[in-house]
Amino acid sequence: MKEEGAEETHVLAFPIPSQGHINPLLQFCKRLASRGLKVTLAPTIFITKSAHIEVNNVRVEGISDGFDEGGMDAIKSPEVYFERFKVVGSESLAELIERQQSSGYPFKCLIYDSHMPWALEVGKRFGLSTASFFTQSCATDAIYYNVKKGLLSTPVQGPTVSLPGLPVLETHDLPSFVYYWGSYPIFRDSVLNQFQNVEQADYVLINTFDKLEDEVLKWMSNIYPIKTIGPSVPSIYLDKRVEDDKDYGLSLFESRKETYMDWLNMREAGSVIYVSFGSLSELGEEQMEEIALGLISSNHYFLWVVRKSEENKLPKSLAEDKSEKGLVVAWCSQLEVLAHKAVGCFLTHCGWNSTIESVSLGVPMIAMPQWTDQTMNAKFLVDVWEIGVRVELDEKGIIRRKEIEKCVKEIMEGDRGEKIKRNAFRWKVLAKEAIDEGGSSDKNIDEFVASLLCA
Ligand code: UDP
Repeated sequence: MKEEGAEETHVLAFPIPSQGHINPLLQFCKRLASRGLKVTLAPTIFITKSAHIEVNNVRVEGISDGFDEGGMDAIKSPEVYFERFKVVGSESLAELIERQQSSGYPFKCLIYDSHMPWALEVGKRFGLSTASFFTQSCATDAIYYNVKKGLLSTPVQGPTVSLPGLPVLETHDLPSFVYYWGSYPIFRDSVLNQFQNVEQADYVLINTFDKLEDEVLKWMSNIYPIKTIGPSVPSIYLDKRVEDDKDYGLSLFESRKETYMDWLNMREAGSVIYVSFGSLSELGEEQMEEIALGLISSNHYFLWVVRKSEENKLPKSLAEDKSEKGLVVAWCSQLEVLAHKAVGCFLTHCGWNSTIESVSLGVPMIAMPQWTDQTMNAKFLVDVWEIGVRVELDEKGIIRRKEIEKCVKEIMEGDRGEKIKRNAFRWKVLAKEAIDEGGSSDKNIDEFVASLLCA
C-alpha cells in the first residue's frame, strides 16, 4: 500500500476539538500513514494533555485555542471560545507550520475541519495545499450550501422542501439550525461558513461513501471537487488492511472496558439494545426517566452510555428495577460494542459518526435525533436506507416510554425489524466495499495521495 516517495510528504491535520470531529479526521490520517505519508494531527493543547491518546504512525502536536488549561469547557460562552480559537489558533497553527519548515520535514498539505475556514488562509500563506474535511453527511452539507447561497430561503416555509439531489424533506427533517432559524446562531454561522471560502481549497474530502448518498453527491460534485473517503472508522471493522487499527485511539472520555465487555459476553446474539446520545447531547430529567422506563418495560437487555456530566439525571426507577437487565456506563468503545454479536439494535441520537458506524457494522437503529444534523441523518436512515425506525415526540416534545417500547419491539421482534436487519446487512457490505481495495473511497484516497506526491 505504501507509495514511493511518500515518506517525504508531510500532512498536517487540524480537527475541531470535539470527539465527533476528531474521530473521522484521525482515522483518515491513519489511512494516509498506511500509504507511507508522514502525518501530524494537531488537536488543541488541552486535548493533548487531557485525552487518552494511543495512536501509531500519526504524530500528535498541540495547537493553542487560547484555553490550554481547561479547553472548551473552561468557558461558558461558545461565542467567546470560537472567537478566541480563531485568533489564537491561527497564530499557533502558523507557528507549528513555521517550526516544521526548518525541521527537514516541512508540511506539504493542511487538512482542516471545514468548520474552521480560517485555517485555509493560514495554510495558503505558507504555500501548503489545502483540503477541507467535512465530517457530516453530504445531504446535510447540501442543505447548508443551499442556505448559504440563498437557494433555500430562511426561515423555511413548510410544510415540505424540495432541493436537487435530496428526497422531499419535511421542514422538521432539516438540520435544527435551519429549521429553528433563531436557535444557536453561533453554531448556525459556523455550519454555513463551511462554504465561505471552500472553493479556494485544493481538495474537498467528505466522510461518506458514494453509494450511501449517490444523488446528492452527484449534485454537489458539480459544484466542488468532492472526494468521498468514508466510512472513516477503524480498519479492523471494515477492510482490515491498516495494521493494528482497532480503535480511534484518542478519547476525551474514560471507559472501563472489562465491565461492559464481560457483561456483553454473557448475552445471547442480538439480544441487547445499545443506547447512546454521543459526546455532547444533554437530555432532560423527564426524558431520561421515560427512556429508562421504556427500556425496562421492553424486557430486553440494554447497555446505556450516560456521560459523567449527565449521571445526576439518572432516574431512581433504574436503580429500583429488579429485572437487572440494564447496564449503565459512563463511556465505551462504541465500535467494539456495535460489533459485538450480542447487540441487536442501537438507540441513537443519530450523530453522523454514530450513524455511519452503525451502517458499517450492520446494526439497525432507533433514531432519536436531538439537534444539529441529527434530524437529517434520522430521515435518511429511516426513509432512504431503511435501516431503522424513528421515535415520535408527544406534544411536549418528549418521547414517552410507550413509544420507546414500541420502537424497540418493532426492531427486535417484529417483521419490519427482520426487513430492517436485512437492509442493515446489505449496507454493511456496501460500506466495506467502498473502503476496501478498489472501492470508491479507496480509489479516492489513492488519488488524493498521488496528487499530493506530484504537487
Ligand atoms: N463514542 C464512543 N463511546 C461512547 C459514545 C460515543 O466511542 O460511549 C464515539 C462514537 O463512536 C462516535 C463519537 O463518539 O465516533 C460521537 O460522534 P457522533 O457524531 O455520533 O456524535 P456527537 O458526539 O458528535 O454528537
